[in-house]
Parts: sequence; structure tokens; C-alpha cells
Amino acid sequence: MKTAKIIGTSVEYPIGKILCIGRNYAEHIRELGNETPEAPVIFMKPASSVIYDGEEIVIPPYSGDCHHEAELALLIGRQGKDIPPERVMEHIAGFGVAIDLTLRDVQAELKKKGLPWEIAKGFDTACPLSPFVPADQVGDPQQLTIRLTVNGELRQDGSTAMMIHSIPAIVSHMSEIFTLEPGDVILTGTPAGVGPLRGGDRVVAEIPGVGTLRVDVKSS
Ligand code: ZN
Repeated sequence: MKTAKIIGTSVEYPIGKILCIGRNYAEHIRELGNETPEAPVIFMKPASSVIYDGEEIVIPPYSGDCHHEAELALLIGRQGKDIPPERVMEHIAGFGVAIDLTLRDVQAELKKKGLPWEIAKGFDTACPLSPFVPADQVGDPQQLTIRLTVNGELRQDGSTAMMIHSIPAIVSHMSEIFTLEPGDVILTGTPAGVGPLRGGDRVVAEIPGVGTLRVDVKSS
């Protein structure tokens, strides 16, 4: 079973659902040539897609274009339904670093056909995830730098200040659709700079004040 640990405590939740928001940074929408959606685009990854710091990404054989998306992750610590934006922070137990791996070629094909994206977003190893820092130890979560390097080369360098939908807005909206439960994880979208990974790549995602996540891509 995959779990989410809170650093410096004995708290460890079995991971429930992983809710993700797509297209939440304007620059990233532009780089993919997408439309800016009026309502947030929401999709899910299964808990089985999680790998931890130091583990290995395995790109499935049905894709030739696996992209990295570095994202701020939220860990839900308290159940909630229809959470008003001003009460969202009471439900967040911690903040972490995630990489939303995306099989861009597979996703593009599915989108074209109007089909769901799961096999492009939810495969085994598709969600590298760091341990979580207690929420009260993180400064303003809307002022965090998000960086990702591949083999030491800077690919993504953004700020959570550039989100289109803020953390309270995302969580409040999601909680109108899904009851949020302790152990649920929310990925808040990726800044610009996404790009392909290859076998043997060393990927490091970092959010100063939150954590660093190091994963390698299995050599094919
Ligand atoms: Zn993403």
C-alpha cells in the first residue's frame, strides 16, 4: 500500500485518491497550445502510481514521449465536503513535491478521440511523490518556487504565485465534486518547461521550503 508521511511526526496516511488539476499555469497552457479552461480541468491518478524519493520511473512500452511536470502537492488531513475557500487550509495537513508524469503522445491521441486519459497519467510510477512537510511549517504556499532539473539542466523554474486557480479555489471546487478524505493528495498543476524524459535520466524536482524529490528513469 502506498502511504504519505509527514516529516518529523509519526503520521502516515494510506494514500487515497490523487486529484490533479490540468492547465493551471498560463505559460504551460501556451507551450502546449491549449485553450485556457473556464473551470479547472480535473483528472485522477491511482495510488498505485506513486513512487517515493530515490525510486525509479519506468516509461511504459506503449509511449515514446514521457513528460515531466513538477508540481506542488497537498495532503488532505481532515475530511471535507463543500469546503468554503476560507476554510481550505484547515483541511491541508502538509505540502510536498510531486512529478505528474504524462505520456504526451498517448494523451494527445486519446484527447483527439475524446477518450479518457488514465493510461497516459495513471500508469505504475507515474506519480513520484516526496514526504510532506507539516502545513504550519510552510510559509505562504502561494509564493513557492518550483524547479525541475534533468541531468543537472534546469527545465522548469516557476512560482506557485503564477497559478490561475489558487489553492483555496482548487480544493474548494474539488470538494464540491468529491468528498476529500485524510490521505487524499492534490496536485496543483505545473508551470512551463515540461519536456521529455529518456532512459537513464536523473530528475530532480525541488520546492525550496518544502522538499526535494530525486528519481531516475529506468534505462530501456
Ligand atoms: Zn500536471
